[in-house]
Formats: sequence, C-alpha cells, structure tokens
Amino acid sequence: MKIETDILVIGAGPVGLFTVFEAGLLGLRCTLIDNLDKVGGQCSELYPEKPIYDIPGVPSQTAQEHVDALLEQIKPFDYDLYLSQRVEVIEPLSTEDGVTSWKILTNEGLECTTKNIFIAAGAGSFEARRPPNIEDPDQFLDLGVSYSVKSVEKYRDKNLFIFGGGDSALDWTVELAKVAQSVSLVHRRDEFRGAQHTEAQMRELVATEAVNLLTPFQIESIQGTEKVTAVTLKNFDTKESVTKDADELLFLFGLNKKLGPILDWELELVQKKIAVNTENFETNKDGIFAVGDINDYPGKLDLILCGFHETTLAVQKAFQRIHPGERVPFGYTTSNTKLQKKLGVTE
Ligand SMILES: Cc1cc2nc3c(=O)[nH]c(=O)nc-3n(C[C@H](O)[C@H](O)[C@H](O)COP(=O)(O)OP(=O)(O)OC[C@H]3O[C@@H](n4cnc5c(N)ncnc54)[C@H](O)[C@@H]3O)c2cc1C
Repeated sequence: MKIETDILVIGAGPVGLFTVFEAGLLGLRCTLIDNLDKVGGQCSELYPEKPIYDIPGVPSQTAQEHVDALLEQIKPFDYDLYLSQRVEVIEPLSTEDGVTSWKILTNEGLECTTKNIFIAAGAGSFEARRPPNIEDPDQFLDLGVSYSVKSVEKYRDKNLFIFGGGDSALDWTVELAKVAQSVSLVHRRDEFRGAQHTEAQMRELVATEAVNLLTPFQIESIQGTEKVTAVTLKNFDTKESVTKDADELLFLFGLNKKLGPILDWELELVQKKIAVNTENFETNKDGIFAVGDINDYPGKLDLILCGFHETTLAVQKAFQRIHPGERVPFGYTTSNTKLQKKLGVTE
C-alpha cells in the first residue's frame, strides 16, 4: 500500500500522539506507525497502572489514563494509525526548492512519502532483559513469569517475587504490596539504583513486614510444570540455596534498547540516541526530526513533558517545509476557532 502524508511519525508513544495535536493546530495531517500492537509506547507497554505525577496541570494519572487522555485530545484531528509494523527503511526521494522529500518502508510493505519524518521511537524497539542464569524462562511467560506489569489485579492475593534493583523494581514493590498476599524483593546487593524516596518507602514496608527484602540473593531456578509453583534463590555470601513457594515472578532487570533499523538511517548518533538541534529538533538530515526519549542534546531529560515541548517546536519547522515562505500561524488554543468548531464548542 502507498500513502502520502504531511508528517510521518515513527512511534505512537505519548510524544508521537501529542505530535498529532500540535500538527493538527497548524492544519497538518500525521500518519503514525508503531511496531507494538497498541499505542502508548512505554506508558502502555511497561507501566500502564503506575501513576504519573509530573504532567503539568494533572496532579496524578496512571500511565494508561495519560495515553487515553492523549487519544481524546487528538480526536478533533484526522490522522492515520498503523500498528504492528516497524519502519525499516528511510530513503531520500527528491529535492525541490531545497526541500527534500522522503520515502519510508515498513516490514509489512507499507510505503509512505512525506516531507517530514518525526522519529518518536523512544527507546527504540525494546525488549526486557531476561534473568541471565535461567535457561528459557519464557517457557513460563504469563504462567508465572512476567517482565512488566500489565495489570495490578493479576497479582492480587498472590505470592509474588520481584527481581531487580532499579526504579521499576522499587516502584512495583511499593505498589503491589497493596494487593499481593506477599511481596519479596530479591536483589544481588542491599543497595538500590532507584529514587531515594521510593527506596525509603520500600524499607518502611520491610520494617512493617509488608515486604520481604531478600539480599544478597540471585535466582537459581524456577520450579513448576504447567505453571510456576516455586523459586530457588541462592545467597551470594553463604552460597546456600533456599526454595520458596511462588505464584508470580516479576523480572525487572531493565530493557535492552534495540535501535534496530534506526542505525541504518545514517543519522548522527550520540551513544544510542539521535543528535538534534534544540531550535527545531531536526537531525543531521533535512526534514528528519527526532523527538522524545530517542533524541539527545545538552541537558536532555527523558521525560514526557520534555518530548511535548520538542515536538511542538519541531512541527513549526515541518509547516515551513510544506509551505515554504509562509508565516507559521500562531495562536492560543483558547482562541483557535477551527479547533473549537471541531470540538463542537459554541459561545
Ligand atoms: C517505569 C517507568 C516510569 C516512568 N515514569 C515517568 C513519569 O512519572 N513521568 C515522565 O515524564 N516520564 C516517565 N517515564 C518515562 C516516559 O515513559 C518516557 O519519557 C516516554 O514514554 C517517552 O515517550 P516517547 O513517545 O518518546 O517514546 P516511547 O514511549 O518509548 O514510545 C516509542 C514507540 O516507538 C515505537 N518504535 C520504536 N522503533 C520503531 C520503528 N522502527 N518502527 C515503528 N515503531 C517504532 C516503540 O514500539 C514505542 O511504542 C517512565 C518510564 C518508565 C519505564
């Protein structure tokens, strides 16, 4: 299938979704492509039920509520969405009046031409790290082994073991202690890499025996035939092993970030991120922008609100590439009559 669009957005995470809104205000149409089977990026895939507290004007919202709100916000604007396909190839087409057009191809055979590509690919195609010393832990995938929390209810009244020492392990220990029958946090050492206040919350739960902290331990084996029934842990100091009944094992060892095809697009990289300027978040290629977690510049923070700012400025340049010489229309949404009409707002 061949299509044409004003802005081709690679990645339908929060930043890709918000691009539809900002582009829509300028009358530009977006096409979003994501290799996951749903929109929302990390928010929907990794932590849908975890609260987010730093979206301006929204004191608290779960990550999935945030994605749902973004979908509601972009409803007034027409856009195309293609899921479960990965953008593999980007090629220059032609240059007219100094403006280069691009062609992209997906692994599902979708071909799209555009003057503007927004790479909102977050951490790239991500894959959860597996426990290093367990052969084929995925034989128990969703049968007691998981690598992210898709539903808090899954852990209600269960004997849960959480493995890891970073933010996710600490966050979920605190959250899931509210619903699980028992939560054991297993880590190789008694030091954590996560936020100090969450570690303090976790240690308070340990003090009140709401959480078992097992350090310095490492997983040795998983027991079960059709489903996980127990787990064997090895103490690093004593070298002794201990087997405990378990219903659910949650491995939160972080993600292997795979840039995959992005590495082939001849973009300037800084380590595993795409270098951009901070005026309009364009890469070293005209008309290819990188917004959200995928980009890098001095002072970059991997936060949703930073990605929103970046894509807001980038669509200004995208407009200029489509309408060379025209002034980019600027107006507050409170007085945007076109938007109000779409929203059905009447005076
Ligand atoms: C546990 C956790 C808690 C967090 N808490 C907060 C918080 O409280 N506040 C905050 O601001 N941020 C938080 N973050 C960070 C926040 O989730 C990210 O900053 C945000 O998701 C970045 O959005 P994005 O749209 O740039 O990328 P992502 O959300 O990563 O989405 C990128 C999308 O691009 C897709 N993609 C990648 N490559 C391709 C390709 N070649 N073709 C097609 N699709 C592709 C991916 O499948 C993915 O869906 C948290 C992150 C985690 C892991």
